[in-house]
Formats: sequence, C-alpha cells, structure tokens
Amino acid sequence: ASWPTKGDVQIEDLVAEYVPGVPVLHGISLSVKHGEKVGVVGRTGAGKSTLSLALLRFVEASSGRIMLDGVDISKIGLEDLRRNVTIIPQDPVLFNGTIRFNLDPFNEYPDEIVWDALRRTHLVRKHSSHSSSSVASISTGEDGIEAAEPLAVERMSGIFSSLDAEIKENGQSLSLGQRQLVALARALVRRSRLIIMDEATASVDFDTDDRIQRTIRGYEFADSTLFCIAHRLRTIIDYDRVLVLDKGKVAEFDTPYNL
Ligand code: ATP
Ligand code: MG
Repeated sequence: ASWPTKGDVQIEDLVAEYVPGVPVLHGISLSVKHGEKVGVVGRTGAGKSTLSLALLRFVEASSGRIMLDGVDISKIGLEDLRRNVTIIPQDPVLFNGTIRFNLDPFNEYPDEIVWDALRRTHLVRKHSSHSSSSVASISTGEDGIEAAEPLAVERMSGIFSSLDAEIKENGQSLSLGQRQLVALARALVRRSRLIIMDEATASVDFDTDDRIQRTIRGYEFADSTLFCIAHRLRTIIDYDRVLVLDKGKVAEFDTPYNL
C-alpha cells in the first residue's frame, strides 16, 4: 500500500518563495504522466532547483499545489513524502556506513533486492575474471581487499564486492558519478515512482555518465516518472518532454523534437 503507486504529477499554479513576498516560481502549471522522462532546462536562477525542492516540500508552496497520483503533497507527512520520492542531487552525500545501509537504511528489503539494484546500476557485475583490476574496490580491511563472498551462487566484481563494504567520509572516495549511481540504486531498491535528478555540472567521466543514462533509460525505471535537471544537451535529446523554465515561469513544455 505504498503511495504513490503510479507517479502521475500535476502541478497547479504553483507559487514558491524563499523570502515572503518575493516569489521565485510564478504560477507553474503542468501535468506529467507516470513513466514520463522530463528534462528540465533554463538559465541560472530560472527556478529549476526550486521546483525540485518544492516537489519534496523543502520549499513549501505559498499558493497552488502539487498533486502526486491525485494526492496533494501538502497533505502527506514529510517523512512519507521523502521516503517515497527520490531526489538525486548534483553532488550526493552518502551515509557513513555499509553500502547496504546506504541502499536500505531502514533495513526493509532482502539482500537479493539490494544486490539486484547494484547490478542494475552497473555498480557490480557478475564475476567474470580477476583481470578487471581497473575498478577500485572499497576496502574494509587493511590490505584494500574485500574478502567476503557476497553470495554463494555468484561472485561479483565491480566497486562493491560485499554489501558490508564500508562507505567512508560520506562517499568522498567514490567519484561524483558513482555517488549518483548509488543514489539511483537506492531509488531502485525503494521502487520510487518519482525521481528528481539534478545532473552533475562537474565533469563525470564518459563511462560513468553513460551508465547513469543507461540506468535511467533501462526498463527498471520505465514505470518511474523522472525529472532531470539537465546541463548537457545529449541528456535530454531523447527524453519524452523538455520543460524550459524562464524567470520562474514555464516558457516551453514540449517534445525535444518540437522545440
Ligand atoms: P542554477 O542553474 O544556477 O542552479 P536554478 O534554475 O536552479 O539555477 P534556483 O536555484 O531555483 O535556480 O533559483 C531561483 C531563484 O531563487 C533565484 O533568483 C535564486 O537567487 C533564488 N534563490 C534560490 N535559493 C534561494 C535561497 N535559499 N534563498 C533565497 N533565494 C534563493
Ligand atoms: Mg539549480
């Protein structure tokens, strides 16, 4: 019975402000069907981040409303809302603790689901050979080698070789792109129906960027609604629609083809 089950988003005349009386979103209205992938673009200060913060009520609507599967999000408990809607910031901070804790902090899911999410985000792959030493391993031991066997049936290689691998310094030993992949894996574990991603502006290596985009486009996320604040044209070119914000208003909302 976890809400939202679909991920339909309807924004009705949303006004949002940080300083009372100084709105930065001036009446945004739009509606997005579940499963749609929406790229959000606009100049600096256009309101892209504010819109994403409003979807999680880090910024409250001063008028208008946001409906998620027909439910006004201002009527939902904050904890419930934020547990079910995933936001992936430009520079995600991870929790200090195991990779398992990072993906399932409330310990609600079986290991198999956690492994599956790591696999689908390309953070681990089924073991093939020992020769792929280009991927760093997260060490829990002194020697930098994670000894534990994750599963009896299949061995993994990749960044994480055990669910107990420790993330330290809030993930600073991982690259920015890898941290975004971990955040995507967390969204997969929870089966989030609404995901808001703020694409990294800093350089992410091509391979990792490609993994992020492939993950988002993969069938696992086919049913999830995605807003991606995009900084690279290649990101949005095959999205379903592009939302162009300008000075806190919707300037355009159409397919990339029509823009
Ligand atoms: P960027 O591309 O630079 O990230 P953006 O489209 O995300 O820009 P927002 O961060 O949503 O833009 O900012 C919209 C407006 O709100 C801007 O005028 C900005 O100065 C203002 N603003 C943003 N955050 C705050 C804040 N915490 N307090 C007051 N004003 C803010
Ligand atoms: Mg921003």
